[in-house]
Amino acid sequence: MTGGTPYWFQPALLETPPLSGAKVLQKDQPPPGWSFCVFWLVSVKSMRNHLSLRDHVAMGAARLVNATSRALKRGSGTVAGGQVGLLISPGLLKNLARGRQTVLVTGTNGKTTTTAMVRAGWGGEVATNDTGANMLAGHVAALVGSTSERAVLEVDEAWLADALTSIQPSVVVLLNLSRDQLDRASEVRQMAERWRTCLAGPPGASRVVVANANDPLVVYAASDAARVLWCDVPTDWQADARSCPRCTRALVRTGESWHCTCGFAKPTTLGVTLRGALMIHGQEVPLELSLPGHFNEANAAMALAALSEVGVDPVAAASRINTVRDVAGRFTLRRWHGHTLELLLAKNPSGFDALISTVQEGDKDLWIAINARVADGRDPSWLYDVPFERLRGHRVWCLGDRRLDLATRLEYGGVDFEVVSDPDLIPVSTDTTALLANYTAFSEWLERSDSC
Ligand SMILES: [Zn+2]
Repeated sequence: MTGGTPYWFQPALLETPPLSGAKVLQKDQPPPGWSFCVFWLVSVKSMRNHLSLRDHVAMGAARLVNATSRALKRGSGTVAGGQVGLLISPGLLKNLARGRQTVLVTGTNGKTTTTAMVRAGWGGEVATNDTGANMLAGHVAALVGSTSERAVLEVDEAWLADALTSIQPSVVVLLNLSRDQLDRASEVRQMAERWRTCLAGPPGASRVVVANANDPLVVYAASDAARVLWCDVPTDWQADARSCPRCTRALVRTGESWHCTCGFAKPTTLGVTLRGALMIHGQEVPLELSLPGHFNEANAAMALAALSEVGVDPVAAASRINTVRDVAGRFTLRRWHGHTLELLLAKNPSGFDALISTVQEGDKDLWIAINARVADGRDPSWLYDVPFERLRGHRVWCLGDRRLDLATRLEYGGVDFEVVSDPDLIPVSTDTTALLANYTAFSEWLERSDSC
């Protein structure tokens, strides 16, 4: 502060030129009223030394927009505010992330759950984007919302390079890669190549990549990284990695191993193994999850591997992860018309494949709701890549906008089904029923039902 001018009105403190059309603040110019509002919105608690005035204004604007969005019920209030914040200060995310110990989690399936597990396993306050807003605007909102020195952020697969540049994480978790919304997203090998390019680092780099050694596409993506912790975790879905990512010859799979004649093979230096018992750097870690499915055990193993890299005791972290029963927007028990629904999100073939494994031993009746809106991908032809044949012996109630597409797929698969336009018409028992739904259908059922 100089000459008695409040520091927030000194143009010299604006690190970058103002946005086009923005009014430039002059030293002797009286402050506009909105400046006081913005300053009020920026809590003293959130002031970090490396943040500029411009960053603080951006943070205040992000909070204001997000609060307004939530008040108007126009969303969870994470994306719009983050976008406004980045518009005002393009370097905001980088500055918010500086000085924090951050874990990034990406992959086609399991991002949200693994992120929730890292947060729970870390303990205490951890900044995170638990609403599922997993692009840069969502990251901004998460970091604006918490002053914790620790952060775990879910990252959309296509945004990993941008997130790495801005956030400079300590650990990057690569879960898996499989086909997902191919009408608007990259083909998986293209994605693996993009990951490989952005993860390649100079020897001695401090960043650790925690990578699934049983997904050849992930191994290919991580193989140029300077430091990798390979995790041998069960990975059932193999349909997108039948050929070598390096030379395209067919991969040879033998038991729990795989290789190509070109020399590309499953890594042998495994720091984490999950084959019955979970071993992390030679230490057995008890795992008794409350969440369903063995795919969640793989998620937990990857989460604990990441936590071990930021100095958290895996056994203590596992005891905290074991208590996670509900992951917002992924697995949750709901009440609907006096009935209990086990609401499960699945949005692509590998996700459905994993969930079908969890319901095979369950009740005969199963509900599946399918939409094909923008967030789901407009093309529902992926239903033909889901191994619905494994549901023979069950009866599937087909729901959602694209219930007829689902019914047609089940007809081809020899699965007993009923199509209903109104779920009120389904005769329900007093037992719990599993309801598998893709993205927007899941959201609809969350709104339609009540928490247990
Ligand atoms: Zn090869």
